[in-house]
Amino acid sequence: MTVRLEIDGDRWRTHLRRVALTNPGLVPVAKGNGYGFGLASLARRAEWLGVDTIAVGTYTEIPEVIDRFSGDVLVLTPWTPGQSIPEDSKVARRLIHTIAHPGDAQMLRDIHPRIRYVLEMATSMRRHGMSADELRSEHHLQDGVTLHLPLVGDNLAEARELLAHHRGTAYVSHLSGPDVLELSRDDLTIRPRIGTKLWLGDLAAFKVSATVLEVHEVRRGDEFGYRRRHAPRPGRLLVVSGGTAHGIGLEAPAGDTSFMTRAKTAAKGTLEATGWHRSPFVWDGEPLRFAEPPHMQASLLWLPMGARVPNRGDRLDLRIRYTTTTFDETVIV
Ligand SMILES: *Cc1c(COP(=O)(O)O)cnc(C)c1O
Repeated sequence: MTVRLEIDGDRWRTHLRRVALTNPGLVPVAKGNGYGFGLASLARRAEWLGVDTIAVGTYTEIPEVIDRFSGDVLVLTPWTPGQSIPEDSKVARRLIHTIAHPGDAQMLRDIHPRIRYVLEMATSMRRHGMSADELRSEHHLQDGVTLHLPLVGDNLAEARELLAHHRGTAYVSHLSGPDVLELSRDDLTIRPRIGTKLWLGDLAAFKVSATVLEVHEVRRGDEFGYRRRHAPRPGRLLVVSGGTAHGIGLEAPAGDTSFMTRAKTAAKGTLEATGWHRSPFVWDGEPLRFAEPPHMQASLLWLPMGARVPNRGDRLDLRIRYTTTTFDETVIV
């Protein structure tokens, strides 16, 4: 009765090793829902990969990884005045903070003289970071600089310009292995931070599925669901595991949603036109429609007459985004 993530362990490990080999200095990113795997699991994988540093997103994520990974932990969200940092000196020594405003580093050093941090450079992302002028005013010892680049565009050119006068270590995102090689100099070590392309770079290693919990045959007009809707025609309702608690939302119908398209859809009188949205659950290769919005832990799906009828306990494929899904179980096969 679960939303299950099945991992082909050999295939995943091979992929992880290949990414580590082709990206020297790799800093795996373990943040949020752990890209679907959980932070604890990613911390153990990073330990197994043998890297010396991982990155977490926020301070609250530190406890999840700190005992499962033995190296340094870079915190990606910049430190802000008032943010407390772990007291335990064994933990504190392993943390690398991110500083994105002039003066913050000084403030942090006043409280913790031996603190380690990197200075964030502003990029075209316009998320966090200091301008070149601001950075120049922060000339004390640090562990390097960090920059976060967009997912598309000429990241190499942007990074080259930003790092032209920097010496030491630079942590970067969204640059390929060859880009990193090209940027590296005798006096500049590039450390690529990678999340998605590391953990989710080989999607064929994963299979996500949900369980069929009930199959109900309905006649036209039969009432069902929280909203007392009526079956528009004879068919079947499937109650399946997986709902809003797993991150399964009501997906907009895929593709073009322009007015003309919607008008045409309405004219055809299809289920979609009457608000029966396409769900991420797939049976026999066909996406099924939600009979009503997903419930907390289950969903009600419409199975048209003529489709093969599943049995209780059968599994449906699920097409989801790993970064927004919570799985009930993760099994390595
Ligand atoms: C999330 C994040 C990354 C990793 O991004 P992916 O696209 O998952 O590789 C790197 N750097 C920063 C600052 C991030 O927030």
